[in-house]
Amino acid sequence: MIFDYAEPREHRRHEPAGYADSESYRPWLRDEFDFRCVYCLKRETWGQVTFEFELDHFRPQSLDPQLKLDYLNLVYACRRCNAVKRDQTVADPFLLLRATRATTLADGSLRSHDGDTERLIRQLDRNSPRLSSWRVMWLRIVALAKDRDADLYRQLVGFPEDLPNLSKLRPPRNARKEGLEDCWFARRQRGALPAAY
Ligand SMILES: [Zn+2]
Repeated sequence: MIFDYAEPREHRRHEPAGYADSESYRPWLRDEFDFRCVYCLKRETWGQVTFEFELDHFRPQSLDPQLKLDYLNLVYACRRCNAVKRDQTVADPFLLLRATRATTLADGSLRSHDGDTERLIRQLDRNSPRLSSWRVMWLRIVALAKDRDADLYRQLVGFPEDLPNLSKLRPPRNARKEGLEDCWFARRQRGALPAAY
């Protein structure tokens, strides 16, 4: 479950615009990408101490400075994946890394039958032996916690405590205000936050 990519979506939940710096998009991106790296699915709750998650421009801003503050070009990524990606241009991982296109096997490898997703997996070296054994290690840790330590299990597969209250934020523009009702903070307020995901 922890390495299952989410079901496909046609568009993002949120679309704030007009901020003067990319860091202002962070709470929106944390919520949009479910508090985990869009590429490898590493979660904040697996031991984030400082800023281990970065805001990645999947089309590099060096190629097109206008993309620097474009929310639809920003994704939430762990430092490791962002470093592997560097200045490569990749297709939109929001669309390609989805349950219908990529599957994690029990041996930790990632499989896809979709050409574009396969290319993305290759570009980002998503099937290196190290990454596969990292996935297997986490699968084992989570299975062990499920068996032996209910608190730890909830921490590893549940949402972080500090869910951002997006309706309190005031972006200059927001093309998808309806998404505010779907943010994880609002779902927790309604008592609709899943215990595990
Ligand atoms: Zn990652």
